[in-house]
Amino acid sequence: MFATLSDRLADTFKNLRGKGRLSEADIDATAREIRIALLEADVALPVVREFVAAVKDRARGEEVSGALNPAQQIVKIVNEELVGILGGETRRLRFAKTGPTVIMLAGLQGAGKTTLAAKLALWLKEQGRSPMLVAADLQRPNAVNQLQVNGQRAGVTVFAPEPGNGVGDPVGVARDAMAEARRTLHDVVIVDTAGRLGVDAELMQQAADIRDVVQPDEVLFVVDAMIGQDAVTTAQAFLEGVGFDGVVLTKLDGDARGGAALSIRSVTGRPVMFASSGEKLTDFDVFHPDRMASRILD
Ligand code: GDP
Repeated sequence: MFATLSDRLADTFKNLRGKGRLSEADIDATAREIRIALLEADVALPVVREFVAAVKDRARGEEVSGALNPAQQIVKIVNEELVGILGGETRRLRFAKTGPTVIMLAGLQGAGKTTLAAKLALWLKEQGRSPMLVAADLQRPNAVNQLQVNGQRAGVTVFAPEPGNGVGDPVGVARDAMAEARRTLHDVVIVDTAGRLGVDAELMQQAADIRDVVQPDEVLFVVDAMIGQDAVTTAQAFLEGVGFDGVVLTKLDGDARGGAALSIRSVTGRPVMFASSGEKLTDFDVFHPDRMASRILD
């Protein structure tokens, strides 16, 4: 991930090496190269504009520190700005003070929700929590079964409608699941909801209805990072239709450019909280903006 962006930025910084002082022309040229690098990485245009303007401003205004040469100074600025657009601080899950913490997953079909649900459950279990997965994706024929298989692999309870029962009533399933979680003292409930191939009103309404029933502590929007700018557009639609608190980026293993990761926070105002980077249940981690920025600049 970020391979092209990393290379591009490294080349840009190389051109500054050995310079004792940065002229206005050096700063302009550097800003231009950073702009191209970000556009090639498929970062949303408004985010690129803001980023480049901030780097330029700071490069001009920054005190020349004794410890850093101009090239290092620029790297430092770019690093800090990257951390900023990636969300700054790591945003951790918020747990409910009483009763089970409810995490609802929303996103398009194929985004990786069902896979992610099991990954998140395993991760929580490893931290000593007792999660329950809820199969409220009744749209995709195999989704319930897939969640059951993955849940079993993760060693986590899965609440699913009986075959032939509850089909077509995901809101009812979600309601029953909440009662069951309270009865069985699970402390986290992860609700997998249905996606569609594209954004549509019915999908949004269903997700909103489930949300109203389960009253989630966190709604996580799950999105395939490989779709680049489309991830940002889809996120905006879900933000309006359902609302969400955080983003999970999936398939980072297949995303060479990183545009979604770099744009989504700035465009939606919601932080990326988790990253999924493979099909194995353990290919999952908390998203740390500072580590991600360091990876780009490595
Ligand atoms: P859903 O429709 O949103 O529930 O999506 P699924 O969980 O069924 O995932 C769709 C496909 O993407 C499946 O084949 C998953 O194995 C695959 N997948 C999910 N997450 C990742 C990931 O992080 N990396 C890769 N390479 N594949 C993934």
